[in-house]
Amino acid sequence: MSSQRAHGSCALAEKVAVITGSTKGIGLAIARRLAQDGAHVVVSSRKQQNVDQAVAALQGEGLSVTGTVCHVEKAEDREQLVATALEHSGGVDFLVCNAAVNPLVGSIMGTSEQVWDKILSVNVKSPALLLSQLLPHMEKRGGAVILVSSISAYIPHVALGAYNVSKTALLGLTRTLALELAPRGIRVNCLVPGIIETDFSKVLYKNEPLWNKLRENHQLHRIGQPEDCAGLVSFLCSPDASYITGENIVVAGFSSRL
Ligand code: NAP
Repeated sequence: MSSQRAHGSCALAEKVAVITGSTKGIGLAIARRLAQDGAHVVVSSRKQQNVDQAVAALQGEGLSVTGTVCHVEKAEDREQLVATALEHSGGVDFLVCNAAVNPLVGSIMGTSEQVWDKILSVNVKSPALLLSQLLPHMEKRGGAVILVSSISAYIPHVALGAYNVSKTALLGLTRTLALELAPRGIRVNCLVPGIIETDFSKVLYKNEPLWNKLRENHQLHRIGQPEDCAGLVSFLCSPDASYITGENIVVAGFSSRL
């Protein structure tokens, strides 16, 4: 299933990266970039057909990629993802927790218990559980974890109630995991995307009045592309980021901090 790297830097040569939700959008762009920078990448998502397509596309570009189905909520799928990753060289260096859901566009007061459970389970609990399954295979090699939050953690939108909360929780998870895993040689950082053009965000950027309101804040006056996020993840995995942990970094075309 694997093939040779086509181009890019060698910063991540000999490394193995596991990325959840990586068959399209931001996850796929991260997979491509880490593989271009020399890593062997294991892509995954819920649907076999999507995994097959992503693996074929990336291998077709000469990149070293394998894949497996992994619905991040399912313990047996997470086990399979770990097993697939270990096939390459017996360990894992990087975990990028990118998969997330938002089954409801609506307020917190309108969110059912079932929807709360779904959002918190997929977006917050699953990254921690997957990391605990991978940790024995990462800690011998050092390595890095990247969680994927959202600008809605900083600037909540009322229509994304419980999702905003889940993405804010990931900022806390980043800081706590960074503390917990530092003694084991693992750095934990967080990518915070703004509005990026993917299927996930269609509901926002195809709504012209809403988009016009949002872009008032955008200093770069354009919608982000998945590739805009990928370079930061590669950097955070690389030795150049060896003294950076517990950070969350916004990629949004504007700055939301002092
Ligand atoms: P996307 O284009 O819709 O892609 C989502 C990917 O995740 C697909 O590969 C999908 O494939 C997979 N997936 C969905 N649910 C999953 C699950 N339960 N388990 C495993 N894989 C799953 O989404 P995106 O815009 O790239 O978003 C990626 C991340 O960026 C998310 O964490 C999102 O919250 C965050 N983000 C996005 C934006 C934005 O504007 N796009 C902004 C801020 C933050 P299958 O259907 O095959 O599972």
